[in-house]
Parts: sequence; structure tokens; C-alpha cells
Amino acid sequence: MSARILYGKDFAAQIKESARREVEELKNKFGVTPGLAVIIVGENPASQIYVRNKNKACEELGIKSEAVAMPETTTKDELLKKIDDLNANPDIHGILVQLPLPDAIKAHSEEILNRIDPRKDVDGFHPVNVGKLVTGSPALVPCTPAGCIEMLDLAGIEIDGKRAVIIGRSNIVGKPMLHLLMARHATVTVCHSHTKNLPEITRQAEILVAAMGKPKFVTADMIKPGAVVIDVGINRIAPKKLVGDVDFDAAVEVAGAITPVPGGVGLLTVAMLMKNVVTATKLQIK
Ligand code: NAD
Repeated sequence: MSARILYGKDFAAQIKESARREVEELKNKFGVTPGLAVIIVGENPASQIYVRNKNKACEELGIKSEAVAMPETTTKDELLKKIDDLNANPDIHGILVQLPLPDAIKAHSEEILNRIDPRKDVDGFHPVNVGKLVTGSPALVPCTPAGCIEMLDLAGIEIDGKRAVIIGRSNIVGKPMLHLLMARHATVTVCHSHTKNLPEITRQAEILVAAMGKPKFVTADMIKPGAVVIDVGINRIAPKKLVGDVDFDAAVEVAGAITPVPGGVGLLTVAMLMKNVVTATKLQIK
């Protein structure tokens, strides 16, 4: 048996199309063009690619995008001042600071991210948005886990009542994924680096989310036959070779459905960012 392959591009195209229609509506009904500012500090080559992809997606959808490139030597106060300016700019509805920040200011990442107006926090990392997610009234939700839920819905995969297991407990993926799945009535277990007997737990999963950042760690014997496997991991194992956290070639023979890497969850993240820019714009014109 070979699993159904959940290609990110198919779902990303649907998410973007619905965002594009909403952008058009915002322009026609309210005369407002959604605007996104992406701040990039320093010269990290991977970050530069991510920022380019985000700006390209904005262009495709009619969202105004502003790439704010700041030098490696930028101080914490200079960055905070830039965020304050963007918070006050009515043409900018979404702000994100591309991570990681340079070593000199990395320790202040939390303070810097928390300076973003929660209504413009399109990454969904601000404590106000985290609190809303946890208490069940989500506003702006982290793009990667939100994209996974959207994909399950678009693929017609039921979440309600399912046994879900997440490997990874980060603020960006694992924790928000827990709350999103729980809100949709799954029974969720979160595993992490201190979890004992991991395979015993993952084998119970009807929906298995791998978000640990360990190349091909999840082997076929860790997967319940027929399970839906969502591989969030992106691991560079050679200059031009990316793999996920799941051993795809073996897992595809056991799973019922599975996302590939590359070509899976990564594409959903940018699409969901566009959706969050639309949501943020709506929050601000209310
Ligand atoms: P992280 O390093 O912040 O967290 C990793 C988590 O995995 C931790 O909670 C840790 O406890 C857990 N873990 C590590 N080793 C483990 C083990 N042996 N057994 C069980 N749990 C273990 O990572 P993150 O930011 O959540 O990212 C995870 C992966 O997802 C990375 O590969 C990252 O590149 C990828 N990612 C992809 C996207 C996307 O758009 N597709 C977005 C964000 C992150």
C-alpha cells in the first residue's frame, strides 16, 4: 500500500486564491490595500530567500510589501524604533521580523518581537495572540501549524475525535499545533526530547506531526498503518538536499497520507502568512 501524498502546492494555491479574493474585496469595499513589512537584519542567506519568497507572494496577491533591510550592526534600540514606526504606519497592517537575529541582539529577540502591535503580529508570536489561541479565541495564529490544519481541512481529513501525536514542543510549531488540534477536538499528546518510549506513543497516532528538526528520525516502525503523517521538519543534509524529520521512502508504504519534504508543509507557511495579513487588515479596519 502506498500513501496519498499531500503536496503543499495544491493546498497553498487554494489558500492563496482565497486570500487574493479577500484582498480584492478589501480594496473594493474599504479602499484599503493590505500592507506587509518584513524586517531583515543582517545578511543571513537563508533568511534572504525566505524574505524574497514572502515579498513575491505579496506581489502575486496584490498585497503591498515592504522589505526593510537593516545592517548586521543594528542595535536593539534602532530595531525597536523601526518597529514603533511601522506600528504607527496606517499603510502597514502586518509586521514580521525575520529570525534568527544577528548574534549581537539575539538575546533580545523576545523583547523585540513583543514590541510589534498584536494586531499587526502576522507571525502570531506575541503573548496576546498566544493567549488568545490558548483560551480558544484565536486571532493571528503561527503560520506553519495553522497551514497544517488548513491542509487537513482542504484534504477532507477528519480531525474531530482523532488521536494526534506531535513530536516537538517549540513555541513556533509544537505548542500552537497542540492548541489548534485540541480546539478541533483531537486527543493530543505532545512529545519532546525528554519523552521516554517515543515509538510506543507515535504508533498510537492517527495524525502524527513531526516537528523536531532531526533528519529522517521518524521511521516506518514508528507509524501506525494508515496514519496521516505531517512532516514539518526541514533539514539540510547537503548543500542542495533537504529532508524532513520523517524517513519518507519507508513511511510512504505504511502511512495513509503523508506530506513530502520539500514540497509539503513549507509551501503552506507562506500561503498562511498571506492569509494572516488579510486577517490583520480586517482587525485594523473594524
Ligand atoms: P525547535 O528546535 O525549536 O524544537 C524542536 C523540538 O523537537 C523541541 O521541542 C525538542 O524537545 C524536540 N526534539 C528534539 N529532539 C527530539 C527527540 N530526539 N525526540 C523527541 N523530541 C525531540 O524547532 P522548531 O522551530 O519547532 O522546528 C522544528 C523543525 O521544523 C525544524 O526542522 C524546522 O526547520 C522546521 N520548521 C519548518 C517550518 C516550515 O515552514 N515548514 C516552519 C518552522 C519550522
